[in-house]
Amino acid sequence: MKDIRTLSLEDLKEYFTQIGDKPFRAKQVYDWLWSKNLHSFEEMTNLSKNLRENLSKDFVINPIAVDTLQKSSDGTIKNGVKLHDGLLVESVLIPTETRTTACVSSQVGCSLNCEFCATAKLKRMRNLEVAEIIDQVALIDKQSRLYFGRPLSNIVFMGMGEPMMNYKNVVESIRKITSPEGLGMSPRRITVSTSGIPKMMKMLADENLKVKLALSLHSAIEHKRNDIMPFSSKFPLTEIMDALQYWYRQTSSPITFEYCVWGGINDTDEDIKALIKYCRQVPSKVNLIQYNPIGEGKYDHRNIEAEERYVHELEKAGITIVVRRSRGGDIDAACGQLANTHSRKEATGVAGT
Ligand code: SAH
Repeated sequence: MKDIRTLSLEDLKEYFTQIGDKPFRAKQVYDWLWSKNLHSFEEMTNLSKNLRENLSKDFVINPIAVDTLQKSSDGTIKNGVKLHDGLLVESVLIPTETRTTACVSSQVGCSLNCEFCATAKLKRMRNLEVAEIIDQVALIDKQSRLYFGRPLSNIVFMGMGEPMMNYKNVVESIRKITSPEGLGMSPRRITVSTSGIPKMMKMLADENLKVKLALSLHSAIEHKRNDIMPFSSKFPLTEIMDALQYWYRQTSSPITFEYCVWGGINDTDEDIKALIKYCRQVPSKVNLIQYNPIGEGKYDHRNIEAEERYVHELEKAGITIVVRRSRGGDIDAACGQLANTHSRKEATGVAGT
């Protein structure tokens, strides 16, 4: 049966007209679904009993379900979330003193092959539906209210998957999250993180969404970046810069570069110089992310001295650099650790049961 949340407001109006009811019912149902995140027709109390029964004969609402919930000693909560077809994604609540951030997934698995990332070890199974993205946001909002007594404040598309490869649904979900008829959140508190697909970044710039953009850079030296993120050999750094400059021209919103420092990989002065040169070409700042080892050997060597040199040299060059403490590491909820370790079998394909 069809999930009612795959219908647009227009589709819903048509449905109500067809069954001989008033088109304004569409708005009422839409509101329950997208603003109140309701998952059952019975609870749509401004509709007649008869109409609620009709709706449940014609449609389903496929909610996500928390499969596993793990709490970190630092307050981070990692949800293993089960989708209606049995596949799993992960959604993380990251609390700080003043904010609660939801780190949401956009795909089941990922089709990119970043060597250092755990999600890349899962093959891409499918894109998430708009409703599946919204449900993750609603879930984390509920948990934030329950455990921290405050609503969700920020959203980062930094969970499983590459948002630009599920472009349409990611954009539509942002529209629903930010519209007054939806969840009504501020777009400035939403960050889309991409590994860098120039054409899609330019398209996103033209959507007028007012979200922030982060680029996973990790090296500003072409051949090194291609080793670290093999798929990126299709997209030269100059082309990515061109897209970033376009982004800034269209949105006036500075870029955040995400960057991990690995001993023996990108810890030389040449690496630092290349990063400074790259950053200078567009208004930006750098988030130095503490790497979370995933047992890949090559990337497991932290070089704290090099991290300090990065900070020192970038600051000297007048570039803002923020060192991001890793969160949720003890429950594998940190960046790049989202790989369904609690239930790998289901995540890698024998799912659907
Ligand atoms: N595909 C998107 C979003 C998901 S990754 C992207 O590439 O941006 C979110 C961030 O986590 C990226 O910056 C990625 O480079 C980083 N990351 C991946 N694995 C990591 C790990 N093991 N430790 C720290 N950061 C990691």
